[in-house]
Amino acid sequence: MTRTTDHPIVVLGAGPAGMAAALALHTARHDVVLLERYREARPAGNILNLWPPPIKALGLMGVDVDDLGAPCHSTFRSAKGKVRADVQIPADVVARYGGGFIGMLRPDLYRRMLAAIPEGMLLTDQEVTGIRDLGDHVELTMKDGSTRSTPLLVGADGIDSMVRAHLWGASPKREHRLHIIGGYTFDDAPSAEKGEAIIAHTRTVQGSYTSIRSQGRDGYQWWTLEACDPDAPAPADLRGHALTLAQGFGAPLTSLIEATTDDHVQRWVIRDRKPLKKWSKGRITLAGDAAHATSPYAAYGAGMSIGDGYFLAQLLAGADLSDTAAVGAALDRYDEVRIPHTTMQVQQAYILGRAFHHAPAFLRPLRDAVLDGTPLLQKQIGERSPGEIVAQLDEMGDSILAPRVSHAPASTASARAVAMRTSRARSSASSGL
Ligand SMILES: Cc1cc2nc3c(=O)[nH]c(=O)nc-3n(C[C@H](O)[C@H](O)[C@H](O)COP(=O)(O)OP(=O)(O)OC[C@H]3O[C@@H](n4cnc5c(N)ncnc54)[C@H](O)[C@@H]3O)c2cc1C
Repeated sequence: MTRTTDHPIVVLGAGPAGMAAALALHTARHDVVLLERYREARPAGNILNLWPPPIKALGLMGVDVDDLGAPCHSTFRSAKGKVRADVQIPADVVARYGGGFIGMLRPDLYRRMLAAIPEGMLLTDQEVTGIRDLGDHVELTMKDGSTRSTPLLVGADGIDSMVRAHLWGASPKREHRLHIIGGYTFDDAPSAEKGEAIIAHTRTVQGSYTSIRSQGRDGYQWWTLEACDPDAPAPADLRGHALTLAQGFGAPLTSLIEATTDDHVQRWVIRDRKPLKKWSKGRITLAGDAAHATSPYAAYGAGMSIGDGYFLAQLLAGADLSDTAAVGAALDRYDEVRIPHTTMQVQQAYILGRAFHHAPAFLRPLRDAVLDGTPLLQKQIGERSPGEIVAQLDEMGDSILAPRVSHAPASTASARAVAMRTSRARSSASSGL
């Protein structure tokens, strides 16, 4: 353990971002505590899909990803079944990471991540209420009035992040004026395609389903997404409302919704925040939704959150945390590596939501004719997105201790030392998944 101060790094918030940052920093041989305000780390939600980069990152931070979800091939389609984009993930990536798009349940991801967290790292019932960056350390005030000192604070405290507000001021959430109703079932629907993620649209509604695997069981998750007034009350009967929306798609979506029990159905109003130009300041940085809250249109918010922790740890591997310049250089590099990628995803997800659900009525037939008759969506979703995925996998290098050389920070003498140490570690570190 490269303990360079008397106090561990504090990661605030035990969601996917916080658990990943804590596990990755531990893998990078730093001493870490993970603070969660609730009595336990608990998933807010049910359905989830992960792309290959988070699967690679999880495996390299010690999480068991074997049979975590169902491998799926994904297509965007019209409600009538016309394929508008076929997401072409290279076969070797699919083979290596257990699928191109992996359908799972969120509690299973939590279970696997929690199982990898060393005893004593996660402290629950720990709400932080105040933050002061005092130059050579950060002082946190806890809800019970006690204080805690740390050389580095990672704010992984979600979309309503107090760490983000502390660093960059309060900012309003961006209303997408959309809501999503999603659920899952282990019943079979005769015409449902196994191993497929089908994201389909009518003129105003998205109706989708994918295969899932959960603790050895096969099933399906589904969701419907439409424009809404975010201040209006939720439909009283969520499953019934989803079923009505699904009529535009027919079976198997309707059969899957009919087979789902009410307790397996949830609704979310979709909001994000406009991307920041900078995440880190002094000895404090951000990860996950605190840094880049994202519409589920990307199906990548948790995936990017996991990636944040991976890259943060890679850039801090070997760093002397008592050296303020070295910490600052690593965090600057972290911002440079993560902000362009996550900003692009956040904005693309926002724009897709607008294009599919907020286009003026007179433009919708034209939009759909373009989507059905031109390669526009194929180029953007079918080819560009897989290109990003492959680029991310490459950018991750072989492991947390074996980064791609271009990621090593080199702007200060101490940062150069970090680069040398991480490159030395490279030869002894294990290779990828
Ligand atoms: C409907 C829906 C579907 C989605 N589908 C996908 C998908 O398919 N794939 C995907 O990759 N992403 C998906 N996402 C996005 C994904 O859920 C989020 O991006 C992800 O959960 C963010 O994780 P996080 O750890 O940053 O934040 P959170 O999960 O919000 O965790 C933050 C944690 O911080 C704690 N906390 C907050 N404040 C404090 C404090 N002051 N002190 C101590 N603890 C604190 C909270 O209690 C919480 O545990 C979806 C989102 C939605 C809404």
